[in-house]
Amino acid sequence: MHTGTRNVNPIVSYFKSLFLWEMLKGLRLTGERLFDRKITIQYPEEKAPQSPRFRGQHALRRYANGEERCIACKLCEAVCPAVAITIESDQRSDGTRRTTRYDIDLTKCIFCGFCEESCPVDAIVETRHFEYHGEQRGDLYMTKDKLLANGDRFEKQIAADRADDARYR
Ligand code: SF4
Ligand code: SF4
Repeated sequence: MHTGTRNVNPIVSYFKSLFLWEMLKGLRLTGERLFDRKITIQYPEEKAPQSPRFRGQHALRRYANGEERCIACKLCEAVCPAVAITIESDQRSDGTRRTTRYDIDLTKCIFCGFCEESCPVDAIVETRHFEYHGEQRGDLYMTKDKLLANGDRFEKQIAADRADDARYR
């Protein structure tokens, strides 16, 4: 039966370690790459390119007239594998349904993008914003107000990315 282990001749192994064979192999690789194009960047002064499909911090979008896009269908909540989304909703006086609570716990989120994929009205999206952190409990808990504020802040970029992405679908 094949055990998956290799039989190494102990004498060969001895001489390899004596002459630092593995280190020489490593140095040879370093030498080969020495004059290649450099791929490291000086972050944060230099930034790596981002895809229009980059999955950063979430946002809730509005229509141009200021109305929330989200219709509280809860598809995103149902599809979220991390159970990170919590939605409560109610009917408004005009008969339409809107969320009264829309929270995303970013400490649970795995940034899979399923929420934005499932949304029928392109309301919940993941923006290119990734340079954020939390210093106290609750900082990484995205409430509806925070999500809408993100939507207002990044709408131009979100719309441009959506248009860009649609051209390649
Ligand atoms: S990106 Fe994935 S894990 Fe995060 S909230 Fe959306 S569906 Fe849930
Ligand atoms: S964000 Fe989209 S998928 Fe989620 S409840 Fe609102 S309309 Fe439905």
